[in-house]
Amino acid sequence: MNGVERLKAEILRDYPRYTEDHRFQFRCYQQISCFNKCCADVNIFLSPYDILRMKNHLGITSEEFLKRYTLMPTDRRQKYPVVLLEMTETEDKHCPFVSAEVGCTIYEDRPWACRMYPVGLASPAEDNPQAEEQEFYFLIKDTFCMGHEEDTGWTIREWIRNQGIEPYSEMGKRFKEVAMHNWFEKGKDLSPEKMQMFFTVCYNLDTFRRMVFESSFLEKFDVDEARQESMRHDDVELLKFGFDWLKFSLFGEPTITIKPSAAAAAKAQSSA
Ligand code: SF4
Ligand code: SF4
Repeated sequence: MNGVERLKAEILRDYPRYTEDHRFQFRCYQQISCFNKCCADVNIFLSPYDILRMKNHLGITSEEFLKRYTLMPTDRRQKYPVVLLEMTETEDKHCPFVSAEVGCTIYEDRPWACRMYPVGLASPAEDNPQAEEQEFYFLIKDTFCMGHEEDTGWTIREWIRNQGIEPYSEMGKRFKEVAMHNWFEKGKDLSPEKMQMFFTVCYNLDTFRRMVFESSFLEKFDVDEARQESMRHDDVELLKFGFDWLKFSLFGEPTITIKPSAAAAAKAQSSA
């Protein structure tokens, strides 16, 4: 078991389980004695939407973002590719985006995990599709974090709203429909080619855009003009389309339609 798996097991076994109505006390501000302590030596898994927001904030391509700021751990037991934010190679291993003066320099587009902190969300079915336990919230009480000593009160629902988490939750739900698809329940594994497709669509969106618009993709698949137009200019629309594409190409769901001409050509080729 690695550190992340150990922590997940501990959360499922020992942590109190909360709903959105749970109240807690917390306040984080620039003058607090522990300012920035939470932004070092931490495992932050990045979702497709996190990467989209961060690379657009920085004004760089997804390819560049992945190269400069991420790690892609590989584990044979992994069902799909995951991406981690890479900490700097400094003594305290701080986040590349933290600054001593202002804190998070990408604050408006910081990832989901940073917004949620000190609230966590556990999804037992993520690692075990047979798990019958429901998702639950829990509180992370790092000893260095003094925010818990403050007297500002919140429900978890209020915290989620205050931290701008709703669009992340909406896109996270769509991502989970792919990452936790019931196709995996049958014990099947994605081939290396399909793992690569998953990676490109979810994390390397600018490459996926080129795949759609600079190849014969749109000659084969029926995507209406309005959707094409929005995907061309809007990363969120492109990512939503990407999730539909993955459901179709990895799991055979009817989320994308093949053009009749392309279907006929494929049929003729297979019977030749
Ligand atoms: S992204 Fe921002 S909030 Fe998150 S760890 Fe880095 S500096 Fe801290
Ligand atoms: S350690 Fe806690 S209180 Fe301190 S800056 Fe981080 S989140 Fe805020």
